[in-house]
Amino acid sequence: MRIILLGAPGAGKGTVAKLLTEFDGSVQVSTGDILRSAVKAGSELGKKAKGYMERGELVPDGLIMEIMESRLQEPDCKKGFILDGFPRTIPQAEALKKLVQELKLKLDLVVNLDVPKEVVLDRLTTRRTCSNPDCQEIYNVKSKPPTADGKCKKCGWKVVQRDDDTEEAITQRLATYNEKTAPLIDYYKKEGLLKTITSTSSQEIVSNITAAIKGK
Ligand code: AMP
Repeated sequence: MRIILLGAPGAGKGTVAKLLTEFDGSVQVSTGDILRSAVKAGSELGKKAKGYMERGELVPDGLIMEIMESRLQEPDCKKGFILDGFPRTIPQAEALKKLVQELKLKLDLVVNLDVPKEVVLDRLTTRRTCSNPDCQEIYNVKSKPPTADGKCKKCGWKVVQRDDDTEEAITQRLATYNEKTAPLIDYYKKEGLLKTITSTSSQEIVSNITAAIKGK
């Protein structure tokens, strides 16, 4: 499958993307995960992105498109990709459209995960993430805790709170979402690709998406 997951921070894009990869070998491509790995590695990209991420602002479109143009041409994307956290602006969506055309591919679906603001806020403050850049499994202190000593159940690395899951950064990220990313809902509605799902259950969301893809 080739799909885009849209939704506010905390809507469940990462969790749903990870579950969807189990269906047909499509890979999760999360710009947030790629950027966090770069920051941790101290690479040039990481140095450029760090400040924006800490403040809850978007990393400039040019940098994001540089990453995505090469990422989507890697061999593991041949079976399909689940875009998690990209595109996040209209210029990114336009650039993606052009890229997909150049690569002679077609997007199957754009899923808008519509989750109430209270749920999003509660999830972001209770979310924990595996610190292993190659894992980044998502936990929640209430609904999906890590091991008793705070380790990832998949890889054993320490599970931490993301630097941008603080109250101040969360407020900024939600404002950024409303201003820059929410307009993509209308954009993809006009493209005839949008499916909005209002559910807080990841399993239910995944069933809805796989049914919609099979029905295509
Ligand atoms: P996420 O893990 O998707 O919540 O992303 C974490 C942070 O990475 C965001 O708050 C942005 O600073 C940055 N980021 C991730 N994806 C993008 C994108 N497509 N465009 C711009 N910035 C992004």
